[in-house]
Amino acid sequence: MKTKLGLLYGGKSAEHKVSLQTAMAVIKALDVEKFNIYPIYITEEGRWVKGPQLQGPVSSVKELEFSPESEEGKLAPAIFAGPQSDGGLDVIFPLLHGPNGEDGTVQGLLELLNLPYVGNGVLASAAGMDKVIMKNIFAEAGLAQVDYTSFIRSEWEADKAGAYEKVEQKLGYPCFVKPANLGSSVGISKCRNRAELEQAFGEAFLFDRKVIVEVGVTAREIEVGVLGNDNPDVSVAGEIVPKTDFYDYKAKYEDGDTALIIPADIDGAAYERIKEMAVKAFKALDCSGLVRADFFLAENGTVLINEVNTMPGFTPVSMFPLLWKHTGVEYPELIERLVSLALERHAEKQ
Ligand code: ADP
Ligand code: MG
Ligand code: MG
Repeated sequence: MKTKLGLLYGGKSAEHKVSLQTAMAVIKALDVEKFNIYPIYITEEGRWVKGPQLQGPVSSVKELEFSPESEEGKLAPAIFAGPQSDGGLDVIFPLLHGPNGEDGTVQGLLELLNLPYVGNGVLASAAGMDKVIMKNIFAEAGLAQVDYTSFIRSEWEADKAGAYEKVEQKLGYPCFVKPANLGSSVGISKCRNRAELEQAFGEAFLFDRKVIVEVGVTAREIEVGVLGNDNPDVSVAGEIVPKTDFYDYKAKYEDGDTALIIPADIDGAAYERIKEMAVKAFKALDCSGLVRADFFLAENGTVLINEVNTMPGFTPVSMFPLLWKHTGVEYPELIERLVSLALERHAEKQ
């Protein structure tokens, strides 16, 4: 019997278009002998739309943007119920990034509906989205990372000068100011002095009520993919070499000339350390399915964890799938493994 897979994509997020590209790639890669695919699209305005079952691969992103007429139901639960005559959907692949997708909210909805879904559960997704919570958990697990501090908006508004002084005393310059709950480098600034710090706080607080500030390090950026449930595997390492000052939004989505080097040219000891830390981070956040774990590798060999991304970029040319390709897991197999892991985790919960 074929697996009825609901592909959830789009979303009210800065990464809407990326999600569409990813959905198309996943549809193309899925074996139609094994899967019946039901596309579920969240528009940029946040409306939920379900298309008819796909009979084969779609050839353009446009085909994945349903017109309002193709809507089958406005309520998310009704959409997930799927074709009742067919017994409902078996598994959902939430191809969504950032808040309202990667942060545990969609995962919570799927838990309530008792539907298996690909990737991390509610807790890991939520903790992984909040950089302060994530780093607190990493600290507790003994993982090496940059020094950081955080502020909530009301605290900053009550004493801005006090906040800047605290940053200068505790962390110094350069430092990085980031909204606690975002991705894609949105709202992130590198600060070299007080004027830049003031501006960076104003900018970051546009996106979140909580901001994290970190010591800025000079280091190479190395990433690995982690795949599995209780005993996950780690991919080869890849390196990101941005042409800009740091890996900002523009470098990620607009310039496209950031180099991804796979496998990264790092020594065996550094790779072993990264591998060990990646699994530790995965377990510390109680992850499942997948994460991309991102590290800083300093010239003296020090390895610091930067973050994990619980639903990393997933187009065939994104880092996570490329890392697995170089490890011997091709894109279609990677998707199938993720679906199996989702079903395995769901079965264990019952
Ligand atoms: P996001 O979740 O948006 O990807 P990151 O914390 O990974 O946020 O930051 C985005 C980029 O900013 C990183 O890939 C890196 O280039 C740079 N960066 C972030 N934090 C630091 C830091 N503490 N020191 C040096 N560079 C940093
Ligand atoms: Mg991130
Ligand atoms: Mg990052």
